[in-house]
Amino acid sequence: MRRYELVIVGGGPAGLAAAIAAADRGARNILLLERDQYLGGILNQCIHPGFGLQYFREELTGPEYAARFIAELPKYPQIEISRRSFAVKVTARKEITYLKPGCCETIKAGAVIMATGCRERTREMIHIPGDRPAGVFSAGLAQKLLNIEGLLPGKEVVIIGSGDIGLIMARRLTLEGARVKAVLEIQEKSAGLTRNVVQCLEDFNIPLYLRHQVLKISGRGRVAGVTVLNMQENKTFELACDTVLVSVGLLPERDIFADLSGLPGLFVCGNADKVYDLVDNVTRDSKKTGFLAVEYLRSKNAE
Ligand SMILES: Cc1cc2nc3c(=O)[nH]c(=O)nc-3n(C[C@H](O)[C@H](O)[C@H](O)COP(=O)(O)OP(=O)(O)OC[C@H]3O[C@@H](n4cnc5c(N)ncnc54)[C@H](O)[C@@H]3O)c2cc1C
Repeated sequence: MRRYELVIVGGGPAGLAAAIAAADRGARNILLLERDQYLGGILNQCIHPGFGLQYFREELTGPEYAARFIAELPKYPQIEISRRSFAVKVTARKEITYLKPGCCETIKAGAVIMATGCRERTREMIHIPGDRPAGVFSAGLAQKLLNIEGLLPGKEVVIIGSGDIGLIMARRLTLEGARVKAVLEIQEKSAGLTRNVVQCLEDFNIPLYLRHQVLKISGRGRVAGVTVLNMQENKTFELACDTVLVSVGLLPERDIFADLSGLPGLFVCGNADKVYDLVDNVTRDSKKTGFLAVEYLRSKNAE
């Protein structure tokens, strides 16, 4: 079994910052596993500006922010990168099993950092009844289709949830020629940053309906509309659309290490630890995690 001082799972901004910080602090033998073929994580699909204002004091797009860290990697021969490598199991002995095209390997680590990001909450998780037609997407999936695959998910769109991803997708779809008929929010105010409410909705005259709940999604084959409850007036109305984006929150991706909490030598950073609004804070905290992992390795060696 191959052995590494430190194995990092996830090559988004958290995993990249942790790897570089650990190498800077003296880790000599680091493996970073990334299931995708590219490093950068969710940043690769976030082509809007707004990244790096604190960390670099510049306004970058997501891919530009990630590129700053990826460009550093050749300076660190002690960091081995394995792309298309999907970690499927982590044990209490810090053995990590991962799948790569044509291979399944188990490796042993002195310390492990989990930087696996988060996943989106789905329609099923918030129990929206109705039909099950095509045209219902999570906002992040729609963002990936549009920004990476070059596919427009629909033309007449209703967005459920007014967090930052929903707001950013409202603007993005509008810029690509879709009509965003409404952003519907069950709470009294948007869950997103004020700058996103202004720049993504108000600047494009996209209505934000607060205290509104989707009661039903209808459509045979393709989405035809949603039934909406105005919670203040206790009245319902129909909104015709061909696409519904569900943008109702993110959950840390912790399944493969859920039963290892508190294990000495296992660290968690980035959105896998808690959902961050700003990538700058992900970088700052993940660097600290890289340092902590090296301190742990040193304390084990001293024993
Ligand atoms: C739509 C959207 C808009 C945003 N806008 C902004 C903004 O304007 N400004 C800002 O500062 N921040 C923004 N953010 C937040 C910021 O992008 C995130 O906080 C940050 O990217 C989280 O980094 P991460 O490394 O923890 O997770 P991720 O970027 O999700 O990276 C996790 C990585 O782990 C990999 N992985 C997961 N599981 C495994 C496994 N089992 N094996 C191997 N690899 C695995 C994934 O493939 C991924 O590459 C936005 C986020 C989103 C989703």
